[in-house]
Amino acid sequence: MAQDEKKNVEEYKLDADSELRFEVEAHATVQLEMLEGMGEVFGTELTKGKTYMFEQGAKVAVFTWHGCLLKDLLLSCRTEVAYVAKETPMVMYVNTHAALEQMREKAEKDDTRGPRVMIVGPTDVGKSTLSRLLLNYAARLGRAPIFVDLDVGQGQVSIPATIGALVVERPADVEEAYILNAPLVFSYGHSILSTYSVFSTFQGQVSIPATIGALVVERPADVEEGYILNAPLVFHYGHSSPSANPSLYKLLVSRMAEVVNMKCDKIRKTSVSGLVINTGGWIKGGGYDSLKHTAGSFEVDVIIVLDQERLYNELKRDMPDFVKVILLPKSGGVVERNQHQRSDARDVRIREYFYGIKHNGKDSFFPHPIEIPFSDLKIFKIGAPALPDSCLPLGMKAQDNKLKLVPIQPDIRILHHVFSVNSATSTDDNVLEHNVLGHVVITSVDSEKQMITVLSPSPNPGLPGSILLIMDLQFMDIE
Ligand code: ATP
Repeated sequence: MAQDEKKNVEEYKLDADSELRFEVEAHATVQLEMLEGMGEVFGTELTKGKTYMFEQGAKVAVFTWHGCLLKDLLLSCRTEVAYVAKETPMVMYVNTHAALEQMREKAEKDDTRGPRVMIVGPTDVGKSTLSRLLLNYAARLGRAPIFVDLDVGQGQVSIPATIGALVVERPADVEEAYILNAPLVFSYGHSILSTYSVFSTFQGQVSIPATIGALVVERPADVEEGYILNAPLVFHYGHSSPSANPSLYKLLVSRMAEVVNMKCDKIRKTSVSGLVINTGGWIKGGGYDSLKHTAGSFEVDVIIVLDQERLYNELKRDMPDFVKVILLPKSGGVVERNQHQRSDARDVRIREYFYGIKHNGKDSFFPHPIEIPFSDLKIFKIGAPALPDSCLPLGMKAQDNKLKLVPIQPDIRILHHVFSVNSATSTDDNVLEHNVLGHVVITSVDSEKQMITVLSPSPNPGLPGSILLIMDLQFMDIE
């Protein structure tokens, strides 16, 4: 083993303004250490002498402003790609950050609101990576911006088919990105918490009755909010593309903007720090309308278009003058993913929700099978099948149908589907606009005994809510 390891050790000497890019192939682990100098991964600084582990599927760039020496140890086999690139758009990205920081300073002085930035572009241009970079640079200066992730295909705040928001108070973890920042509510679900109340009224506590609370305490509690400032806000959408139900997507974006505004009204630091809004790659036709709707809902001041002149020109034409539209190039390091790889990445994300990030090949958390009687649950799908206008009741539009709660009878058709546990206590409440408390997967349905078995992130015998919303996504609990 020692000999094998030795064989797989590589040292990379990086000059200033260059980056080491690598992808970790299936069943491999890469152990990385910075021996000299200074380097960062998507805006988070590396600590000299600390060993970082990257598991299969990771696509990483270590950038250095001043030069550094890296040791790259391939534990099981070779990485698919590892090379040093001298051409990067990092200077442009850091200049963008500097301009945003000036806007924050001005907001502080003038007692106004900080910059609200939306990042748009086709798929695989590095939108999520640029969001992470801008958030990390802001957090490194002591800011606390809100990260709003509207990418239902490959979002980072919770699992796919949801939209989420998170206050970013410290740079993302090098290996785990934002997952560590979130309390275990959504990432691992060990505590299940109503973040709706947290974001809207700020009176919530870490746990609500009948749930256990678990939270990584990394900083002293906030004077006004206790520990809840860390909590993410997540809404159920149910599909991995906004085009599947544009009416619902728009409704959720508007609701998210409303709640984020309440948060900003309440916390001055967050208001001054502003927002970074990540979007999906749907930019044509209905996708473009949806981007305009998002820009309007969040009243964005800056739109960064990555790598698409046409979209840049369209937005310049259609946005009001006070919105700055900027075109930035994509990094040559951004890795393109096909449909298959995107779907695999979604599976990995759901697995991480239940099992946590692997450390040294071992899971960090374990979900629990829980039996629940049919009678304790109300299961719904959002959106009834489209009917021609002539068949609809007077005054009803086809899109209203897309926002309808349609009851589902438990049977084998719902097996292996992922569900959101909704925070509404009754179907008379506005269920669609209530946040998610956590997620479960239905693993068996016993019609005779009228019992359902779910895979739950919490060991509690019951669920914290009785309303379950089905997702298109399925999850098979096999390694
Ligand atoms: P999508 O539209 O699917 O959400 P995106 O535009 O948000 O995609 P990213 O998710 O930011 O794109 O990037 C795609 C992949 O490329 C990610 O796995 C990311 O880690 C990787 N990546 C981004 N920049 C670099 C880089 N400079 N070097 C190596 N890998 C990179």
